[in-house]
Amino acid sequence: MHGDRSTLAGLIEACREAIAANAEHLCALDRAIGDGDHGTNMKRGCEAVYAERDELDALPLARALERIGMTLVMTVGGAAGPLYGTLLIEMGRRMEGGRACDMLVHALPAAVDAVARRGRSQAGEKTLLDVLYAVQSEVLKQEPPARIAAAAGMAARGTIAMKAMRGRAAFLGDRSIGHMDPGACSCALLTDTICRYIGE
Ligand code: ADP
Ligand code: MG
Ligand code: MG
Repeated sequence: MHGDRSTLAGLIEACREAIAANAEHLCALDRAIGDGDHGTNMKRGCEAVYAERDELDALPLARALERIGMTLVMTVGGAAGPLYGTLLIEMGRRMEGGRACDMLVHALPAAVDAVARRGRSQAGEKTLLDVLYAVQSEVLKQEPPARIAAAAGMAARGTIAMKAMRGRAAFLGDRSIGHMDPGACSCALLTDTICRYIGE
């Protein structure tokens, strides 16, 4: 991340556009193994963050991330809101001083761990965490943005073969196998959007 303020507003806009363009797809994935609202939930959250982009622009990056997280908790709802919210809030709390990309290496593992605790979940349980762990691993290896995005996409596709152990999809048991997890899909999509943005 560049950590410069005009970049954050542009990034927020790019994420909002990506989620809006894929909201129906995310809902379709959620209809197959959940309650069909994941795209709607994420779109609502992204619109709320987008509406605050000027205020977010005026904050230091760490405070902006925390605030984005709180907005996501309040607006996304469902299971995904508190999980994405925890990710951003923890990232913000741990990103103090230094260059944004150095801070990311420090903050991301702690934030992903906080998401796992919040969801009482771990890798291989067919959730957005499967993508977050893949992203974390590439970030720690200091891989370039394109590699991080590719790993996120692969991790999301990897959830197709998994049996859901958490969230609504877990009620389906074996019938959840063969479908991509919607949260993993949105997480890979956002990762791809962020990586493209910072890779330019
Ligand atoms: P809801 O299931 O409440 O309707 P969403 O549809 O917005 O919420 O989000 C569903 C996504 O949240 C799932 O696809 C999964 O990735 C993620 N999720 C649900 N429960 C958990 C959990 N306990 N741990 C991690 N991720 C979870
Ligand atoms: Mg849902
Ligand atoms: Mg729901």
